Amino acid sequence: MVHGPCGIINPNAPCMKDDECSKQFPKAFREETEENVNGYSVYKRRCIEPVRVGKHYIDNRWIVPYNPWLSKKYNAHINVEVCASVKSVKYLYKYVYKGHDAASITLKNDDRVNHDEILNFLDGRYVIAPEAMWRLSEFSMSDKSHTVIRLAVHLPEQQAIFFKERQENEAVERASIKDTTLTAWFKLNLIDEEAHEYYYADIPQYYVFDKPSTKWQKR
Ligand SMILES: [Zn+2]
Repeated sequence: MVHGPCGIINPNAPCMKDDECSKQFPKAFREETEENVNGYSVYKRRCIEPVRVGKHYIDNRWIVPYNPWLSKKYNAHINVEVCASVKSVKYLYKYVYKGHDAASITLKNDDRVNHDEILNFLDGRYVIAPEAMWRLSEFSMSDKSHTVIRLAVHLPEQQAIFFKERQENEAVERASIKDTTLTAWFKLNLIDEEAHEYYYADIPQYYVFDKPSTKWQKR
């Protein structure tokens, strides 16, 4: 599971875009595995003596993350990476709906190449019968059951305030002009008689909590 070689030793490698490896190889050596901003693992890469592979000497910076058991079982290059943050949900969703791999082939009688650039540019999507039927019948592709809204519960003047070290005063000042979902609910009840009909826990069904203004607004 070695990437490349690319970079200066092989500028024509398929991964090279604008003189740089689009997969960001070689990766840097690092002492510990960490998580990047998108929730992907940035793996530990021990600094070792380079090892000769084919014509080139490579070290841990060129290794593609893999699972030895899978590589051996399927005798194939299988890239395995851990992604465990909430952001990976978007990624999984995209994979489910992007459609399967497809190839476009043309059968022709003569040998002349008819290069139609526009046609080549148009992206074709192949849809099999059950998938087509599902869409024609307008069945839904996804479903949302319910939304969880967290309502603050606290005693008077005891709402949680988050602050960075040495910025306590600013945080208190900021919080003093803001309402929590609870204090905003009391204020709503002062001005909106209709809100009297609902318990605190039921209020999100009829009102939306607007974060910038920290006010409950009618749906
Ligand atoms: Zn590369």
